[in-house]
This record gives sequence, C-alpha cells and structure tokens, in this order.
Amino acid sequence: MRRKLAAGNWKMNGLGANLAELSALLAAQPDPACEMLICPPATLIHRAAAQAQGSTLRIGAQDCHAATSGAHTGDLSAEMLRDAGATHVITGHSERRADHGESDAIVRAKTEAAIAAGLTAILCLGESLGDRQAGRTLDVIRAQLAGSLPDQAGGATLVVAYEPIWAIGTGQVATLDQIGEVHAFLRAELVARYGETGNAIRLLYGGSVKHANAAEIFAVKDVDGALVGGASLTAADFAPIVAAL
Ligand code: PEP
Repeated sequence: MRRKLAAGNWKMNGLGANLAELSALLAAQPDPACEMLICPPATLIHRAAAQAQGSTLRIGAQDCHAATSGAHTGDLSAEMLRDAGATHVITGHSERRADHGESDAIVRAKTEAAIAAGLTAILCLGESLGDRQAGRTLDVIRAQLAGSLPDQAGGATLVVAYEPIWAIGTGQVATLDQIGEVHAFLRAELVARYGETGNAIRLLYGGSVKHANAAEIFAVKDVDGALVGGASLTAADFAPIVAAL
C-alpha cells in the first residue's frame, strides 16, 4: 500500500512571514494517513522544519548539489539540507533543467546524493509541448528514466513526479487519459528496473493541480498524489488539495 503524498513546491517565493501558512495548513487537520510536504526556498527550511516539528508536515528542499562538500559557491549539499531539517528534496525539476542546464546525468547524480544523505528524492520528469505534439512523450520519458534513475532505490527513498512541461504554471492540465497512460508506463518501467520495489515507489502528477481538479486526478490509477507549485503557496489553496488525497 503506497502512502498518498501531496508535495508543495514554493519555488522562489516566500519570506519569513509566509511561514504562517504552515500553521494554517496544520490547523486544517490533514489526514495523518497521507503525507504532506512543503518545499520552501532554502532560506526558510530551518525555520519551517522547527515550526513543523512534532506534526505530520514534512519540509523539503527544491534542489541539492551532487557532491557532499567542496568548492561549489552558492550550492547546498544533501547532507546540509538534512541538517537544516529537510526530509525530502526535489531533483530534476524542469525549471532547473532549463535554467541551469541540468542533464539527466546530473539529475541522477543529485538523486543518488540525496538518497545517500538519507533524504527522499522526488525525481521530476516530463515532456515538452513539442515532444507531445510529435507523439514522442513515452520515448522522452523512457530516455529520462534511463538517464536519471538512481541505481539503488526503495519505496521510502524515491518518488517519481510526472510533470509535463506544458502543464506547469500554465493552467493547462493534462487530460486524465494522458496522466493515466504515462503513470501506467512509469509503473511498468519502474517494476522492470527495480522488481517488486517498483510497485512501492510513489508516482506524483504535477502541472496546474488545483482544488477543482485534484480529486479526479487522484482517482487515476497509479497516481499517488501531486507535486503542486502555485496552489501550494497558501493554506487556503493547498489544504483542500491535501484533503482530496
Ligand atoms: C511545479 O512547479 O512543479 C508545478 C507543478 O507548478 P504548478 O502547480 O504551478 O503548475
């Protein structure tokens, strides 16, 4: 039985004052059987983790470096993020792949570093609009999986998020058939790669998830939750998504 997960990605949004949203989220009394995660900017991880201590809310990071330490000005290792209170880290988000030129090989190294440091990695992948229109979606995802999946993974250490790039922040959600097709493909690929462990790895959908569409997306087979950007910034938007899990 895979535990449902609603993960919020605040991206480059949030100052100390916004941490009040975490208290408001907890006040909404989320179902403890589901996992709720917020990934604030790195500047807020320590304070957010202190605030969430003893609650069902988990705090994650949005990226990590592949190395454990060294001359990498401005970067943060997975161990540092864990030390600050993070339990999860997003790897391979399409915005990092685009803005920072992250290849599948880099994403794989970051994912392996995250797992080695004791974090759960949320590995993101997904096709561009051009890939989808050209009928290349599953080929692109197969290649991303081949290049970025870690050698060792477990149900507690790896989550895979399907995020079609054209659906991120656009208000344009993938259809339920599109989501179902890709999630079934991901499940089969993970089982082929990791055996029975592949059935324990959670699959999230991401791309313009809102309260209004969350329940129908969560009802799709092999969707174990969502990675949410814009609608995770306030408790008013995010709590109903968590409740729909
Ligand atoms: C994301 O950035 O991962 C995301 C899914 O964003 P949004 O929910 O805003 O589309």
